Amino acid sequence: MATPPQRTELSTLGEFGLIDRITAAVELQNPSSLQGIGDDCAVIDPQGLTQVVTTDMLVEGVHFDLGYVPLKHLGYKAVVVNLSDVYAMNAEPRQITVAIAISNRFSLEAVDELYAGMLTACNAYGVDLVGGDTTSSTSGLVISITAIGAAKKEDIVYRHGAKENDLLVVSGDLGGAFMGLQVLEREKAVFKQDPNVQPDLSGFDYILQRQLKPEARRDVIALFKEMQLRPTAMIDISDGLASEAMHIARRSELGVKLYDEKIPIAPETHRAARDFNLDPSTCALNGGEDYELLFTIAQADYDKIKGSPHFTVVGHLTDKASGCQLIDRQGGQHELKAQGWDGLKG
Ligand code: ADP
Ligand code: MG
Repeated sequence: MATPPQRTELSTLGEFGLIDRITAAVELQNPSSLQGIGDDCAVIDPQGLTQVVTTDMLVEGVHFDLGYVPLKHLGYKAVVVNLSDVYAMNAEPRQITVAIAISNRFSLEAVDELYAGMLTACNAYGVDLVGGDTTSSTSGLVISITAIGAAKKEDIVYRHGAKENDLLVVSGDLGGAFMGLQVLEREKAVFKQDPNVQPDLSGFDYILQRQLKPEARRDVIALFKEMQLRPTAMIDISDGLASEAMHIARRSELGVKLYDEKIPIAPETHRAARDFNLDPSTCALNGGEDYELLFTIAQADYDKIKGSPHFTVVGHLTDKASGCQLIDRQGGQHELKAQGWDGLKG
């Protein structure tokens, strides 16, 4: 038997003690972070750049289940999903603030784990934790993170910049995070029935990693600079390819055609989908949480991405009247629906 983990009650520290504890390990690394934790506000020098700001809130029982998500992974992922939004503007994240509401069900050690994950992400992506708020919750854990990034004004890419006939391109592969969640939920259900059964997660490494430890595509933004490629529109894939493609089309006042056969899906994702009797394309279209980038480029820029292992052309933008269409493998046309994964879970 493993020794039970130590449990220190949060009440022994008080609010200020807790703040001191969780922020002790924070070191600022960006010259633009003039003042971090410890004053009434953080102070940021925009250094002549334009700033972008985004906030995401995660609620226990709605967005995550501590039954199978380790706190350290949760902290890491909570930061990464915010950074993904900053990269989706073609900007570099520089600072985050973190607000948490926490109940006395959590120990100090649990909070340490959560912050260890968040700070690991901060270090990996070169981002400073510059402030936040700490309050109590009578029920579950709530985490709200705000990320602040910067870019030259002319480099910022919006959802609304796509032009008719632009190519629709996606980074990486899709559907993996959704299949990872299916595996975790299945094992949780098995465990509930018989706690003596060890979870069988073998052979699912890739999709579990996609679900539990997603990465934001910082490398893609760097590649764009290297290739001197400026997408005309961009969005990150948090809710599935279908809904994000429709966001770009609608905000650009255009239509879009997506080709089912072009959607990049990893072999592991395929295998898992077959195990669960799910259509892999449906998982990619509606699954979500892949945190890949979906962007549009002028056809004249196609040569810049041709042959790149990072990018796949999955369709193109059309006139508005043609609407948002999915072309199946037989050439049949179906109106795209953004059902999100609530619809998928039925
Ligand atoms: P105030 O009462 O002025 O809002 P607080 O006492 O709440 O200040 O916070 C003190 C400092 O600690 C501030 O710099 C704040 O940004 C930071 N801080 C508070 N809670 C957190 C947290 N959960 N994570 C990171 N920084 C925090
Ligand atoms: Mg406060």
